[in-house]
Amino acid sequence: MRSNLLYKHPKTILNKGSGYLAGYSHSLNPYTGCAFGCSFCYVRKMPVATFRKEEWGTWVDIKKGSAELLEKELTRAKAKGKVTVFMSSSTDPYQPVEYKEEITRSLLEVMTKIQPDFLFVQTRSPLVRRDIDLFLQLKDKVRVSMTVETDREDIRKHFTPHAPPIRGRLKTLQQLKEAGVPTQATIAPLLPSSHEFPDTLADLVNRVCLDDYFMGDGSGGRRTKTLGISSLYEELGLEEWYSPSTYRLMYDRLKKSFSKDQIHVSQEGFLP
Ligand code: SF4
Repeated sequence: MRSNLLYKHPKTILNKGSGYLAGYSHSLNPYTGCAFGCSFCYVRKMPVATFRKEEWGTWVDIKKGSAELLEKELTRAKAKGKVTVFMSSSTDPYQPVEYKEEITRSLLEVMTKIQPDFLFVQTRSPLVRRDIDLFLQLKDKVRVSMTVETDREDIRKHFTPHAPPIRGRLKTLQQLKEAGVPTQATIAPLLPSSHEFPDTLADLVNRVCLDDYFMGDGSGGRRTKTLGISSLYEELGLEEWYSPSTYRLMYDRLKKSFSKDQIHVSQEGFLP
């Protein structure tokens, strides 16, 4: 799907960590909007999306001048105390347009010079592997989290048809691991998957995070309910997967392939 792209010149780039991200001093969004337009994305219901006439997933604002802003704001923030950064909370930092614009890469370049105490990079895109050279400079001050909601491509296509295919995400996890970048596989939101999924992940990562709509949307599942997600499960006859207790099933499956201390649940899995 093509997105409407606009260049913007924001006045600030670092936001205060709050709510679900209260464990972070700051969040960092190189873009506004998201071309992946996942059906379950709760950002659709947040002011950033509701004030916009165009549908979520069809527009992306490119934040020009981000690196210069970050350099100033990071220097100031570091002078005040510990700086932990979550990138990104309301977009994916590896938008398709990032191939050309390199806004995220420019921010990472700043953070290799003025290093935060910790940087968490959250994405669904294999493009993240382009920046392995910069992650390696941050050593253990960075963790790259690749979302893999399911191992079933038919399920991925049903719930999030414009996000990158699963195979590329798994391959990217492997490349990050081989390069020595701290990583985690994030199953969020938990979607229907095969019995082999935990074994597939265990070959690639030693840390997984599991989250669902009921724990992870910041409102006990109410925000997600307003998106009408249940009909997507009904269309597939998989309603049993849309339940607050389903994560237990996945947790038990994961326990066969991972030790308990490798499995993180909901908010705790995203903490610095
Ligand atoms: S990738 Fe993230 S921000 Fe983008 S639409 Fe999907 S859930 Fe929302």
